[in-house]
Amino acid sequence: MAPSTPRAWSTHAVGAGRPPRVPDSPLNAPIVPASSFYAGGALEYAREAAPTSEALETALAVLETGHHAVVYASGMAAANALMDLVPPGGAVVASSATYTGVRVRLEELHARGTIELTQVGIEDTDAVLAALNAARTSAGPPTLWLESPTNPLLEVAELPVILEHARSLGVRSIVDNTFATPARQRPLELGADAVLHSVTKAISGHSDLLLGAVIVKDDSLGEALRTRRVLLGAAPSAFDCFLALRGVRTLAIRMDRAEESAQELVRRLKGVSGISRIRYPGWGSIIAIEIDASPDVIDAMCARAEIWTYATSLGGVESLIERRRRWPLESTAVPENLVRLSVGIEDVDDLWTDLSTILTTR
Ligand code: PLP
Repeated sequence: MAPSTPRAWSTHAVGAGRPPRVPDSPLNAPIVPASSFYAGGALEYAREAAPTSEALETALAVLETGHHAVVYASGMAAANALMDLVPPGGAVVASSATYTGVRVRLEELHARGTIELTQVGIEDTDAVLAALNAARTSAGPPTLWLESPTNPLLEVAELPVILEHARSLGVRSIVDNTFATPARQRPLELGADAVLHSVTKAISGHSDLLLGAVIVKDDSLGEALRTRRVLLGAAPSAFDCFLALRGVRTLAIRMDRAEESAQELVRRLKGVSGISRIRYPGWGSIIAIEIDASPDVIDAMCARAEIWTYATSLGGVESLIERRRRWPLESTAVPENLVRLSVGIEDVDDLWTDLSTILTTR
């Protein structure tokens, strides 16, 4: 039932995907651990649909202003479902500095001859538009794969201009919205065809599960993505969907708090010597800094932190720190000395004390 008055995004985050308001119904969608359902109804087999994943999908579709959400066992599974929709020999224009797994997988598909791949710096709007104009193959217009802000360089694309151009060319556009979350950016409203999430990150928010999602408006694209889950098999567990939906309830305040702290940390970091560059779009909870020290020294600094946790990933309630190039597959476009900071919801002064201590004692 449509709400009687328009509602704020944060209100939807609390209310979307709940069971009907009838006596004895639980307030939260229950965990239904089932692979198979009695025949004759809407549910048959959990790779196709299941009650707990459907509740999460309902919420994610509302939050990203889509009509369909399909959840997968991880962000990479969601990304692979989208890649599987590129026709053989089709072109993909992608952010050159994108999340490692996505970039490596696209490069792999290109090396195998499955797709044509053009990688482009997404902050250069003219270059992105030119790449889209040039990338058409006999399989049709290209697919545009954007991540904004990018992981971990925090580049920001001019989404409205690029997405409008993509639309005029009949290009299918995908935006990985993992860093921004729908609390800060809703690419479907800007003209994107599909929004990708690593729900593992800020949407679930507690570093306790792996999940991915794609949200779209178009019915046939939604159906195709659901079929990809059925055929590729990357269905999420009911337990993880329950936890992710629980995380959604607090996304608005977690983002506000983490962003406020990130902005304050950036202000304070500007006064610290030995940091050659601070990357921060001005919003969001992720910062990248370049430290004037060798990789070994920087890794040791990260390991010494007491409140920040030396671990990969991002978007959780706990603040994480890591040097990205410690991962062998990370792009060489990412400086060796770049450290990604995922700001959580701890007290900002405690975060600062810990961070400034590790940065100034080498
Ligand atoms: N997209 C972005 C921007 C990411 O940062 C990640 C993971 O770090 C992924 C996709 C992949 O998600 P997952 O780790 O849930 O498979």
